[in-house]
Amino acid sequence: MNKKDYYEVLGVSKNATDEEIKRAFRVLAKKYHPDVNKEPGAAEKFKEIGEAYQVLSDKNKRAQYDQFGHAAFDNASQGGAGFDMGDIDLDDILSSIFGGGLGGFSSSFSGFGGRTRKNSARRGEDLLMRVKLTFEEAVNGCEKDIRVNVTDTCDECHGAGGFGEAKCSMCNGLGVVRDEQRTIFGVMQTQKTCPNCKGAGKTFREVCSKCRGTGQIEKNKTLTISVPAGIDTGNQLRLSGKGGAGVNGGASGDLYLEFDVADHKYFERQGDDIYLEVPVTITEAVLGCKKEIPTLNGNGYIEIKPGTQNYSKLKLRGKGIKNINSKTTGDMYVVINVIIPTKLTKTQKDLFKDLADTDLESEPEFKDFKRSLN
Ligand SMILES: [Zn+2]
Ligand SMILES: [Zn+2]
Repeated sequence: MNKKDYYEVLGVSKNATDEEIKRAFRVLAKKYHPDVNKEPGAAEKFKEIGEAYQVLSDKNKRAQYDQFGHAAFDNASQGGAGFDMGDIDLDDILSSIFGGGLGGFSSSFSGFGGRTRKNSARRGEDLLMRVKLTFEEAVNGCEKDIRVNVTDTCDECHGAGGFGEAKCSMCNGLGVVRDEQRTIFGVMQTQKTCPNCKGAGKTFREVCSKCRGTGQIEKNKTLTISVPAGIDTGNQLRLSGKGGAGVNGGASGDLYLEFDVADHKYFERQGDDIYLEVPVTITEAVLGCKKEIPTLNGNGYIEIKPGTQNYSKLKLRGKGIKNINSKTTGDMYVVINVIIPTKLTKTQKDLFKDLADTDLESEPEFKDFKRSLN
């Protein structure tokens, strides 16, 4: 997929404010709206603008786009990270931007005639939830049960909001009534929300007591999520349709999970690489040795060469963490920490004294330092 950068599509900078993004979208949407612009390609352009706006106007989506680019949306099939761009409701976006009163532009937007916002299908709300993971769960991936509070369709009235539904007699089911006002220009006809049904277009013999007519209830659900290997703190995962229930047949919102990965006792993570500090004795560093160390997949051995300096790093290629997007694997670094003994026996002390009588200053560092003393 060769997609254009969303910031480019809207012609704004990467650090544009919400207001700047809104303004840019407003101008472009007016220019390319298919009811206004009949040029070939205008409809596609309009859709592109809508898509860019939907992502950049949403704090979560924008953050994820900034972090992963379009790739964030591509692996939607793998465990659900990403956005499904198929469900963009441009009418919804436009009405949220231009409001109910569309000014001189109103007639060009379809879908606002007799229908009112109250009566139309609305998408459920998106939810964000933080999930704590252990280091191992994040590195290896895991299945995890999480409890979420979501709005769900009322199981008593099945979302209708009541029983014994009838068309509203005041508005004849339209949800709106005409309002006539005499002005100096003559009689002005406007529409207003029907006061009898509050725009729903229908009334009930009995309002559902469980949801108090809203058609929705709060529910505590347990979801089993599959966390892909390589997740790091701050990464998000989208579970499509696991957010709040839609209204009037609208699609469910999405559930976003943001992860918080605990530190490991010994391993330190830096991106896809891990660091491990390994203490070695003076003689091990001087003479070299084989040393058993823990790795992400069990214990292993490293070869410490004779004359290994303190804080030198050994790289174990491919022994790091699997990257969540590219599926490449990071490296492991072993950092040597030579421990100087502090509690010596008499024998050990004597051995060091014997050693001290020999010349241990043949390295160039000592000669350089001596020269500095002139
Ligand atoms: Zn009514
Ligand atoms: Zn109900």
